[in-house]
Amino acid sequence: MSDFKRAGFMPFMLSRCPRCGKGKVFRNKILSFKKFSDTLEHCPSCGLEYEPETGFFFGAMYWTYALLVGSTVILSILLYYLGYFEQAVYIIPAIILFSLPWVFRYGRLLMLYVVYPIMYKDKFTGKK
Ligand SMILES: [Zn+2]
Repeated sequence: MSDFKRAGFMPFMLSRCPRCGKGKVFRNKILSFKKFSDTLEHCPSCGLEYEPETGFFFGAMYWTYALLVGSTVILSILLYYLGYFEQAVYIIPAIILFSLPWVFRYGRLLMLYVVYPIMYKDKFTGKK
C-alpha cells in the first residue's frame, strides 16, 4: 500500500484538491464560458502546487479524449436501444458540445487525481 492518502470521490466530483479535498482547483465557475478551465496555481487550503511542471496538463487531452469516446459509445448504445439511432447523428454532437466544459475539467482533475500522485509522489506528499 502507498503511504499517502488521496482525497476521495466526492472531492473529485466537486473539483477539490486531490490531497486535502478542501481547496478548490479551478479559478472560475464552470459556466463562466471564457475561462472555465483556468486552474489555480496552489491549493488555497494545503498549498499543493497544482502544476508540478510546465505542460503537466497536456496529459489531460488523453483523459478528455477517453471521456468523449467513452460517452459517445455509451450514448450510441443507449440511443440504439431507445430507438433513436438515426437521430444520434444530431443528438450526440449536441450533448458533447454542451458537456465540453465538464469534460475539460474532469480531464484535468483526472490528471491531478491519477497521474500526479504516481509521477510526482514527493511533491504530492510534501516530502523532499
Ligand atoms: Zn489541498
